[in-house]
Amino acid sequence: MNADAVTRFAADKMLGRLARWLRILGCDVLYGPSLSGRSLLSAARRERRVVLTRDRRLARRADAPSLLLVEDDRFREQVRQVVSAFAIDVRAGLFRRCVECNGDLEEVPREAAAGRVPEFVLSTQQRFRRCARCGHLYWDATHVARVRRELAGMGIAPAAGATENAC
Ligand SMILES: [Zn+2]
Repeated sequence: MNADAVTRFAADKMLGRLARWLRILGCDVLYGPSLSGRSLLSAARRERRVVLTRDRRLARRADAPSLLLVEDDRFREQVRQVVSAFAIDVRAGLFRRCVECNGDLEEVPREAAAGRVPEFVLSTQQRFRRCARCGHLYWDATHVARVRRELAGMGIAPAAGATENAC
């Protein structure tokens, strides 16, 4: 709803799975293979992001910007911790961000997907979303169902009534 109020993160390179899941939930997450230690802190400071890390030494540094020490090795617990710590509205941002590159997803007409997805997908799916940054295409059949199942498993599934139309 209030996009500016959404917390932006910079995730430690050891938190790849967490980063992907936060993107699925709509969070703006900076993540890359070089982001750890000092480079992570400076990237977060530069872009005013909250650091997510498992690195206790890093968390203790006096010059650390806003930071959340991720407590668990299991990604489901990690997602739960972050969602709870920042009161993330799971329904608001779901399926709005590209898992691969953090770009914004936009709805595109079926014709835009022609030739870029298998024929049976084109003939059975109505709605497609495309990443404005990398062009990756998403459609409901696999992505949405899988994500909802997983979120339910984490105990943070969107409330009933929040259907695929929520995004
Ligand atoms: Zn993308």
